[in-house]
Amino acid sequence: MHFTMHEVGIIESALDVIRREARAHHATRVTRVVMRIGAISGVDAEALRFGFEACTPGSIAEGAALEIETVPARAHCKACAADFTIESGFIFQCPRCAAFSGDVRSGRELELARLEFATAHEKASPHHVR
Ligand SMILES: [Zn+2]
Repeated sequence: MHFTMHEVGIIESALDVIRREARAHHATRVTRVVMRIGAISGVDAEALRFGFEACTPGSIAEGAALEIETVPARAHCKACAADFTIESGFIFQCPRCAAFSGDVRSGRELELARLEFATAHEKASPHHVR
């Protein structure tokens, strides 16, 4: 298993947000990081995990548990208003009416979903980033 610059870049930007949030909450440590990735986001969960392990030592997120939530990919058909699950690609055929749609409603997520901090004053508590 190895990770690419792609995953390192993702972790680095996540760490920027984590540092900022930790400072805002006077956290001394981050205990849990929850990331949400879409099924067609182009990000491999295992590579991301590996990148996280490689990039966090020495940072505020060192030792934090990384949780990855995968979001299934869904497209919407304008012709018959059906929502259907998709695998990969850019244009999708509706299984109900066979119309083509490029209207992806979910599956491209790549975001920090939640963080849990430990502060000097309180026990770790969930914090919703957005
Ligand atoms: Zn349809």
